[in-house]
Amino acid sequence: MAKSSFEYVKKYERDDALLPNTWIVIRLDGKCFHKFSDDHNFTKPNDLRALKLMNYAAYTVMKEFNDLIIGFGQSDEYSFIFKKETSLYKRRAEKLLTTINSKFSSSYVFYWNKFFEEETLKYPPTFDGRIVLYPSEENLVDYLKWRQADVHINNLYNTTFWTLVLKGKLSPAQAEKRLCGTVSADKNEILFQEFNINYNEELEIFKRGTILLRKNLVENNTSKNVIVDVHDDMLKEKFWKEHSKILSVKPSKLNLEYTGKYTEII
Ligand code: ATP
Ligand code: ATP
Ligand code: MG
Ligand code: MG
Ligand code: MG
Ligand code: MG
Repeated sequence: MAKSSFEYVKKYERDDALLPNTWIVIRLDGKCFHKFSDDHNFTKPNDLRALKLMNYAAYTVMKEFNDLIIGFGQSDEYSFIFKKETSLYKRRAEKLLTTINSKFSSSYVFYWNKFFEEETLKYPPTFDGRIVLYPSEENLVDYLKWRQADVHINNLYNTTFWTLVLKGKLSPAQAEKRLCGTVSADKNEILFQEFNINYNEELEIFKRGTILLRKNLVENNTSKNVIVDVHDDMLKEKFWKEHSKILSVKPSKLNLEYTGKYTEII
């Protein structure tokens, strides 16, 4: 069939294939969730329903995209890590980011009622997304450690802040002033001495966020592949020893499905 005279506009599209042989990390984050969480009466500092909905939306994403090896979620954000040699959508950045974000966002809305039985969704939420490439295993592990360290820092602050407000009857401004300049030990001390709260006994999901992993389960002599959620400490080397196989899936040969843009430099 003859090409139309308009077809040349296609040439304006950009080739955005991501560098081969690197880990692709996609991180999504809720837009204005400070407000969204207020508007939907999230429990402060941690609404378990909201965290579980985030995990379920992420599970829906991982179920559909087999090349995702790890998911990590906390608060209103989720990170997804592709296996290093993925050739999904020929590693086209826009295609990967928009498809993952779209599946996640629509799942968040689709499954809202499953977790928020009493709370009506008042308006459609928005998530932004970005892609980061990591060239070494060390960088990737450090990325995940960075996100998990962030959970700890925020959660200790938020737990102390909201305890001062809700149980200590301080105003938000007073609580903020009280915490200004304090280190972790001070916050643990405030919780324990003044409110008899042992921070260590807070739920793991609050302190560490959620890691989604693929596992092969053998039950009654049948094996099945499942996605599990764990709240382990990724800052400890024990975790990476236990799960060493996740990252060490090596490409058997150069994947020829890459778009060719970078194949000359490998
Ligand atoms: P931005 O659009 O820049 O991301 P934001 O308001 O979403 O702005 P974040 O830094 O992403 O800011 O923080 C998310 C906020 O959402 C938290 O500070 C908290 O107030 C709220 N939030 C998210 N998840 C929960 C939850 N499970 N329980 C209670 N509050 C939550
Ligand atoms: P891809 O994931 O590559 O986009 P696709 O199946 O979505 O695959 P498209 O080229 O985007 O393929 O075409 C969309 C298809 O969706 C149409 O070919 C048609 O079959 C169906 N479709 C979309 N909108 C309508 C509509 N309003 N009424 C009937 N069919 C529709
Ligand atoms: Mg946000
Ligand atoms: Mg949280
Ligand atoms: Mg956030
Ligand atoms: Mg289509």
